[in-house]
Amino acid sequence: MIRERKSENVPSSLLTTSQYDGEDVKAQLLEDQHEKCYICKRKLGTDFEIEHFKSKNNYPELRQEWTNLFLACGYCNKKKFSSFDDNLYPLDTNIEDEIEQRIDFSRNKASFTTVIDDVPHQNAVRMLHVFYNGKQKMRVIKEERFFDEAKQKMNRFLEKVNAFLMEPTPANRTLVAAELSIEQEMLGFKYWVIRDNHLEAEFKDEIVWNKH
Ligand SMILES: [Zn+2]
Repeated sequence: MIRERKSENVPSSLLTTSQYDGEDVKAQLLEDQHEKCYICKRKLGTDFEIEHFKSKNNYPELRQEWTNLFLACGYCNKKKFSSFDDNLYPLDTNIEDEIEQRIDFSRNKASFTTVIDDVPHQNAVRMLHVFYNGKQKMRVIKEERFFDEAKQKMNRFLEKVNAFLMEPTPANRTLVAAELSIEQEMLGFKYWVIRDNHLEAEFKDEIVWNKH
């Protein structure tokens, strides 16, 4: 997860109808989130749902509140449901700085940590852990496929980073930079690969994303 940005213009169907999922809402969210799920950062094809940051079960008054609406993939939306309501709010938090996000290939796990000891940070860590590593001891099939997809994408990124570390040529730099564009997937994890390899200065212009 990374910080998100949302257009300040409230889609008109939120003001003139009792729906929260009008076409104008979906279109604006797709644009604001660069067509990605705000939790797992995968590209959204036709599988997307409007996600209430604070669930409509526990916060019915926020059902049509523009700042409470995000797009999530079906996998994340179903898993989040009304758990994790007290979570890190992506519009005012640099989530990529505050939650360390890594794939631990040797343990076949994703790991998430934070040094900030409050409920929203702890909940964000707990939520990501459940999404990537499963609820039970073993992942169920959907969880396994979700994790494998993440692993494959990070493997491809790591190959490019390693190529750049071995031969820091402009061509190799371009390949890494392209992977860090706001349009790309897995940015929260990629951010920590960049930091772990002391490449923040090198790619400082690429890893700004929504921080301004
Ligand atoms: Zn997702």
